Amino acid sequence: MLLNAKLDFPFPKPPAQLKADQKQQLMAQCTQQLKLNNAVLIAHYYTDPDIQQLAEESGGFVGDSLEMAKFGANHPATTLVVAGVKFMGETSKMLSPSKRVLMPTLEATCSLDLGCPEQEFAEFIKQHPNRTVVVYANTSAAVKALADWVITSSIAVNVIQHLHAKGDKILWAPDKHLGSYIQKQTGADMLLWDGHCVVHDEFKYKALQQTMAFYPDAEVLVHPESPDNVIQLASHVGSTSQLIQSAQNSTAKQIIVATDQGIFYKMQKAAPDKELIIAPTAGEGATCRSCAQCPWMKMNQLVNLEQVFLQPDNEIKVAPKLIEKSFSPVKKDG
Ligand code: SF4
Repeated sequence: MLLNAKLDFPFPKPPAQLKADQKQQLMAQCTQQLKLNNAVLIAHYYTDPDIQQLAEESGGFVGDSLEMAKFGANHPATTLVVAGVKFMGETSKMLSPSKRVLMPTLEATCSLDLGCPEQEFAEFIKQHPNRTVVVYANTSAAVKALADWVITSSIAVNVIQHLHAKGDKILWAPDKHLGSYIQKQTGADMLLWDGHCVVHDEFKYKALQQTMAFYPDAEVLVHPESPDNVIQLASHVGSTSQLIQSAQNSTAKQIIVATDQGIFYKMQKAAPDKELIIAPTAGEGATCRSCAQCPWMKMNQLVNLEQVFLQPDNEIKVAPKLIEKSFSPVKKDG
């Protein structure tokens, strides 16, 4: 069962391309700024490869949203610069409430977050008081505060299995594809919110079949935010970190990947001998909007990162009361 109105998300403009010497100069300036401000850069796998490279070379970190927040909490820096989307900055703030958390732009959001507004979701919960509320990390702090559990895709199946075994009925938000995947894996009674990721929702079954026919020995790695019929074609289904691990362990020479193309930076490093092929996002005659590149992740650019300590309005603020309320479910995601 699904609930939600379909929202049409306006995409931000794609960023301007930089020349090689401009990039080099900006990277040096960013590294210097991070040092001067006792700050560390924490980037998501889906950000631009330049940002991921800078995070690694400046002593920061690249990972999924919870790994990013945990790294920030354990790092001695007093300021965390989070390159990702807004809910990732909020998660970092929740785990490091005493640190300053800055982002290159607070306009970088997520269709899952946008598609699950606090008031509507609170109303949905009210209508189903006997269900355990489990939300995905890709939600605002306010929505997390309404949940009993906050989980990432890497542990989603295990947590729902545990809740199902003790007889809980689940209310799940916001990603309908991930919810449906978990439902099939666990057999749990799940009521699903009708949200979707604009990147994964675009992977196409028929076009993927054609790509697989072209590369018959390739393995297919699929993120579970993808449509059900695309998941059916996968050799491995998993979170971003799990997909990188699968690529590393694979004996195949070619790997077709159904997730944001930004992951190729770390995946190629983990599996340097493999040819990585992006899964198709448009069928015959169709066009893609995201084309396997999250438009909000791509708003994190060296140009605005270099200005991150000078901007007046790019600090993540989460009300202490909200941190208290959302902290306990976030902490359950061990
Ligand atoms: S890739 Fe999808 S889930 Fe991730 S931030 Fe972008 S819209 Fe959200």
